[in-house]
Amino acid sequence: MKRVFNFSAGPAVLPEEVLREAAAEMLDYRGTGMSVMEMSHRSSAFQTIIDEAEQDIRDLLGIPANYKVLFLQGGAHTQFAMVPMNLMRNRVADYILTGNWAKKAADEAAIFGKVNIVASSKEATYTYIPDLSDLPIDEDADYVYICQNNTIYGTTIKQLPNTKGKDLVSDVSSMFLSEPMDVTKYGLVYGGVQKNVGPAGVVIAIIREDLIRDDVLPGTPTMLKYKTHADAKSLYNTPPCYNIYMCGKVFKWLKAIGGLEVMKERNEKKAKLLYDFLDSSSLFKGTVRACDRSLMNVPFVTGDKDLDAKFVSEATAAGLVNLKGHRSVGGMRASLYNAMPYEGVKALVEFMENFEKENS
Ligand SMILES: *Cc1c(COP(=O)(O)O)cnc(C)c1O
Repeated sequence: MKRVFNFSAGPAVLPEEVLREAAAEMLDYRGTGMSVMEMSHRSSAFQTIIDEAEQDIRDLLGIPANYKVLFLQGGAHTQFAMVPMNLMRNRVADYILTGNWAKKAADEAAIFGKVNIVASSKEATYTYIPDLSDLPIDEDADYVYICQNNTIYGTTIKQLPNTKGKDLVSDVSSMFLSEPMDVTKYGLVYGGVQKNVGPAGVVIAIIREDLIRDDVLPGTPTMLKYKTHADAKSLYNTPPCYNIYMCGKVFKWLKAIGGLEVMKERNEKKAKLLYDFLDSSSLFKGTVRACDRSLMNVPFVTGDKDLDAKFVSEATAAGLVNLKGHRSVGGMRASLYNAMPYEGVKALVEFMENFEKENS
């Protein structure tokens, strides 16, 4: 068996300890004689798994009692619709465009009501975060929407927008649990887990109780109401049991290493290693304004398409995989999620140093 360093933007690397534990429990989960995959979602064994998962993420983020934690399905894309269907009571919302995922969310919301684009960096291919301190927030806006870490472009919103009293909704898919987060600054935070938390198939939504209401947009299906899932404690229908179990293991892994402060320090250390190299390199360049750089997703280019392709293919042969950039940016992208070890980033930087020597 040989594990590679997997720099995929998602689905992405998981902690090896977690995978080993899951493997050991595959055939007989703690004396039940079956795998978690084979277990009823109404069993007491699974109830314990989901209860502990909820408690552990509450502990990690310090989630207050007036926020619900929901384990949902349908990916972040389903949230692009659920957010307006549940929150757009005046049928107006303000969106901040910092990349493709924010754009897709805004386009989906426009099916249901009026969408104001109150800030955008589209004109510069989303290579920076606009100033969000004084936006033309609509008086009637039901919420202000951001995508906090832009997976494709490699930017992070570090200063949350001044929403002028409106509820903030944030897609944190690609930075979920990478650092502490003050949940009380948001009305709703959600993330698909396949970037930083677990296997694809679960979206975790953290939502303030007063936003969970019956008076959603007319025609909203039962499965797309937050209230349905809040009332049923995420067991309205069969949830993705195995994936929730894996997320729970990742939460316990995070707690065991010391929580999100420690995780953040590790992530900063990894990102610094790569960014420092990019800043000193004569061949490779980061594509993002320095103050807006993401700790999670690091896009870079050589400026020469053929050389980029050569880099990606030689890196793959060296066990550094999934470094090809998103098709809308080109070049390369290294995703340095929680489970990417420091050694992986070190190996990448050493590889880049050698590649630079050989190709300049
Ligand atoms: C990956 C990603 C999405 C899309 O997630 P799906 O689960 O495929 O719907 C949305 N937002 C962000 C920030 C992402 O990184």
